[in-house]
Amino acid sequence: MPELLPRARSSQESVFARMSRLAGQYGAVNLGQGFPSDAPPAFLLEAARRAVGVADQYSPPAGLLALRDALGADLGVDGADVVVTAGATEALHLLAQALYGPGDEVLMLEPVFDIYLPQARLAGATPVTVPLRRTEAGRWTLDLGEVRAAVTPRTRALLLNSPHNPTGRVFTRAELEALVALARQHDLWLISDEVYDELYFGERPPSLRTLAPERTFTVGSAGKRLEATGWRIGWVACPPGLAGNLAALRQVTSFCAPTPLQAAVAAALPVARRTGFYEGLREGYAARLHLLAAGLRALGAEVDLPGGTYFLMARRPGWTAAALVEHAGVAVIPGDAFAARQPAPGGLFRFAFCKAPAQLEEALERLGRFGQTSPVHE
Ligand code: GLN
Repeated sequence: MPELLPRARSSQESVFARMSRLAGQYGAVNLGQGFPSDAPPAFLLEAARRAVGVADQYSPPAGLLALRDALGADLGVDGADVVVTAGATEALHLLAQALYGPGDEVLMLEPVFDIYLPQARLAGATPVTVPLRRTEAGRWTLDLGEVRAAVTPRTRALLLNSPHNPTGRVFTRAELEALVALARQHDLWLISDEVYDELYFGERPPSLRTLAPERTFTVGSAGKRLEATGWRIGWVACPPGLAGNLAALRQVTSFCAPTPLQAAVAAALPVARRTGFYEGLREGYAARLHLLAAGLRALGAEVDLPGGTYFLMARRPGWTAAALVEHAGVAVIPGDAFAARQPAPGGLFRFAFCKAPAQLEEALERLGRFGQTSPVHE
């Protein structure tokens, strides 16, 4: 019998899929995988109902013109430079295939969103991580000197994620400017994963492409913005002139994203902007963040407050992700799932707070009960 290639043999269920499966198995409150418990907004659902039965066949590989135009208007770019993808995951895969290959190195920050590593390796490239360091106060700092030192003649791209999953770190304009200067000096591509661009709790995160439009690919997600992660509508805003090749490349991955859902997102994007949907989303999530953070602190946990995303990192002695899902009935993501180098910075857990307040309260109550049966060990 022939064998699967090593890359397939070494492929495993992702931590997100696993924690959602275990949450189902143990009847746990799922604060693991980052998807909202609320329904998507009615204006999005209605637009989808209108599109099914009307826009059911393939779209052009670059995406429905209406959606590319809507994204262009929303992002402040030319719609012709936008490629619609089957989720941000496909966008990131396409960029890996297009921008680096065997012998190349790709810089990324650690903790690292798990798919960046296998996507680089599938492209034949080597992921090189630069650590974000966590201070005593629970702030994650970026040492630009370390990024500079990690650049080699083989470095082809810098993959940034802001707001950053899992730490919630929002990179400042000064940090981005320094990274752009580095990218220009070494002629690197910039990939900016901005799927949480509308989910922030302070100032709006600066967008990398405004600083380096000639070399930045911006990745976005309707799933994250419009609370419909299962729809698989993402996008890439490309430097001018490059969208055609990326669209051609994606003909061999998924050909196009689901057409009726593209039509629905095209209709919904201007409505979301006009009606203050994102402001409402941020207000709702800020309240949930504080509910969860205060509750976890009351249980003796140390909590890092995020600047964006719908995740927070927390730790408390005595917790393990396995014990929490199985015995406490709360699914979370262990921090070491985001580590490229083992061992990972110990004891941190990522909690998703994109869940109904009642679910967050239920999770806190369960953690409280679990804490009583499993006292804090130092
Ligand atoms: N972005 C989501 C998270 O961080 C998960 C994405 C996925 O499971 N593909 O939880």
